Amino acid sequence: MKSQNLAVCGGDPVRKTPFPAYKVLGSEEKEAVNQVLESAILSRFLGSWHPDFYGGPFVQKFEQDWAKSCNAEFAVSMNSNTSGLYSAIGAAGIQFGDEVIVSPYTMCASATAPLIFNGVPVFADIDPETHCITAETIRSKISARTKAIIVVHLFGQVADMEPIMKLANEYGLIVIEDCAQAPFAKYNGKNVGTIGHMGVFSLNYHKHIHTGEGGVVTTNDEQLADRLQLIRNHAEAVVEKKGVQNLINMIGFNFRMGEMEAAIGIEQLKKGPQLIRERVDNVKVIEAGLSALPGLLMPADINGMDNVFYVHSLRYDANITGVSRDKVVTALKAELPVTDLREGEGPLVGQGYVRPLYFMPIFQTPHLIFGKQSAIAKAVKSCQVSYQIGCCPQSEHAHFSSLITHELMRPGMTKNDLSDVVLAFHKVWENLSSLKSLVI
Ligand SMILES: *Cc1c(COP(=O)(O)O)cnc(C)c1O
Repeated sequence: MKSQNLAVCGGDPVRKTPFPAYKVLGSEEKEAVNQVLESAILSRFLGSWHPDFYGGPFVQKFEQDWAKSCNAEFAVSMNSNTSGLYSAIGAAGIQFGDEVIVSPYTMCASATAPLIFNGVPVFADIDPETHCITAETIRSKISARTKAIIVVHLFGQVADMEPIMKLANEYGLIVIEDCAQAPFAKYNGKNVGTIGHMGVFSLNYHKHIHTGEGGVVTTNDEQLADRLQLIRNHAEAVVEKKGVQNLINMIGFNFRMGEMEAAIGIEQLKKGPQLIRERVDNVKVIEAGLSALPGLLMPADINGMDNVFYVHSLRYDANITGVSRDKVVTALKAELPVTDLREGEGPLVGQGYVRPLYFMPIFQTPHLIFGKQSAIAKAVKSCQVSYQIGCCPQSEHAHFSSLITHELMRPGMTKNDLSDVVLAFHKVWENLSSLKSLVI
């Protein structure tokens, strides 16, 4: 018989057998890659004004399919979401000292993108329920220098876009949606990535669908699509022959996607909706099992605002349980096994997500990284922006005290696996009193 003693206190864990790997690639992708290999053309991009400026057949087909799948006019493939964000900031015309409002509670690239074009990221706090920035938190950060907003649909939860777009229109701001964690999600029936001026998606292997590395930017604006394609592919060498009039930020990178990734992407795109359904269904099972636990709130379920669950975000209240979030997560990790192929990451349960980004050296000491004359160093020195610890209290509270994240709702988890996840939570909650004296 299993000991009821918590594993963190020396008892037997709920489960030792690893959870199944998250594998979304199959024979379709294999066949697609073989086709590319047989064609012997792994990329067909040319960095000059030429028909091949737009890439090879798989890249162009992938872009058409992607645009169609989310009802966008244009989709521009990239070699990552990070590259997509850099390109979007460039396309938006961000220049020296322009301010871009962004969440501090996101993957670092959402906030470093403005720096690439010498812009200045300004952090707006998150809403404690959705973990996304809102029209109110954005409004309080608007200055005469504000040019753009990067809205991150964090954890798969869609941000409340309508008031944000209204605010952006009022001030003439460009809105970039970072959809890395929310592909296929909808806001009032509209695909994310088509509500703002540009939407940026990731095809990195951690994401819902993937090509190993890769990204896409969507837009309904032909001029923005043009500028994205130029920044992706050596703009400076193309603008003269292409007859480009607006030369702002027309310095290009090589952010081009290969034909193999595009071929895989075409197949992954077809699987996306089913993979999302599996996540949503798995979450329902887990939430039904956890709903009665005191001090634990499930993600807000808001009408018209989809959640496609990149991670399952739980809000924990230590005032109700009398035990810190960190002790509870330590106990949960001890009850649960690792996941196959990601053994090195330990059990996929976490204390918060990433530390609010302004804690990073790049914001605390920007003059050391970019020089004293950089826009960000000047903005900090003249107190035009502040990256002081404490500036976004909701983000800090979520990260350091209340947020529990896990990825145990991924496709591939069986009913049995899900029930072990629920069992682990119940076992920890039944033994909260034994955690009070635990030192971690
Ligand atoms: C993963 C992620 C990125 C970066 O995506 P890459 O394709 O790895 O560059 C950016 N923003 C968010 C919110 C992400 O989750």
